[in-house]
Amino acid sequence: MTSKIARFLREQAPPTPCLVVDLDRVAASYRALERALPLARIYYAVKANPAAEVLRTLVGLGSSFDAASEEEVMACLAVGAEPAKISYGNTIKKERSIRRAFEAGVRLFAFDSEEELEKLARAAPGAQVYCRILVENEGADWPLSRKFGCTVEMARDLMLKAAGMGLDPMGLSFHVGSQQTNTIAYEAAIAKVAMLFTDLTERGVNLRMLNLGGGFPARYRKPVPGIDTFGNAIHQALVKAFGNAIPEIVVEPGRFIVAEAGVLAAEVVLVSRKAKDDPVRWVYLDVGRFSGLAETEGEAIKYRITTPHDGKAKGPVAIAGPTCDSVDTMYEKSGYQLPQALKAGDQVLLHATGAYTTTYSSVGFNGFAPLKDYYV
Ligand SMILES: *Cc1c(COP(=O)(O)O)cnc(C)c1O
Repeated sequence: MTSKIARFLREQAPPTPCLVVDLDRVAASYRALERALPLARIYYAVKANPAAEVLRTLVGLGSSFDAASEEEVMACLAVGAEPAKISYGNTIKKERSIRRAFEAGVRLFAFDSEEELEKLARAAPGAQVYCRILVENEGADWPLSRKFGCTVEMARDLMLKAAGMGLDPMGLSFHVGSQQTNTIAYEAAIAKVAMLFTDLTERGVNLRMLNLGGGFPARYRKPVPGIDTFGNAIHQALVKAFGNAIPEIVVEPGRFIVAEAGVLAAEVVLVSRKAKDDPVRWVYLDVGRFSGLAETEGEAIKYRITTPHDGKAKGPVAIAGPTCDSVDTMYEKSGYQLPQALKAGDQVLLHATGAYTTTYSSVGFNGFAPLKDYYV
């Protein structure tokens, strides 16, 4: 936890649950990625945390933005992002949203199907478009596979078609899955897409951009390779694939930029056992699956949890939220252990919760308010 967050929690003692994000830490992650991948232009994936304070911080650092909806495009523009620095990166868009983004000055759009290409040709004539390729998501704790992207063969046809439709087919993209902990995923995807890149270039398509997506991991319960490890592996893969003709490189980090900048403060509501001699205690918090912790689905993302009793004897726990839905159980199988002394009223902290939390919070399931967030 950063000293700014610790001071805020101590001095303001905000009601829980709440997320506190340190904007200096957001900036530090942005700069670390910039240093690790000097070749790449950074398009922050707005969906990870769309708070105006985060977007404004990144505008100040010169970031570009990957927006997934008309609303996210407008959120970027509202804090002063230039339209030329916004990519409308969702492959699933309403035609009227494409038109509104185009009218607002956005010129860069993703697609992965013929119907989407037709929408783009009608609603964003002359725009720069890039095709998303389906790649393996193995090694990712939060895979995005199957839903997005098309095969290399189909991408080839669509890119060749795009020029004839009055669009500028300028690039290719992929996403190796979120919380990707293995550099091999990027290396394999780069090699796969590079072949198509060369093929299309030889056919006269003026390809200039390769978008490596996001996926860079945050540290949760377990250590992950540092961002320099990803930077080096990606650089080497690019040199191997493109030699001295590396195209313009784009990355779209979300989680890596904001996750570790956030700490979620929560209160223990109840500690109980299902039977008198059951070694497993059930710890119910005032935050759960419906108030921001959606990525605990399938126990995929395992947040690090600290308590006021750390250092004392621990025992096995299941950890659940406060609502009346049994889906609102975060961890039952992941081997969490918490201090035996933990009791109702204690404050616990869930670390690295700055990404994919606030906006996943329901609007009032069981009467619980959406997750409150503070930016310091
Ligand atoms: C979600 C998403 C990202 C960000 O992914 P992270 O794993 O958070 O870095 C980037 N690009 C696209 C197209 C996305 O959908």
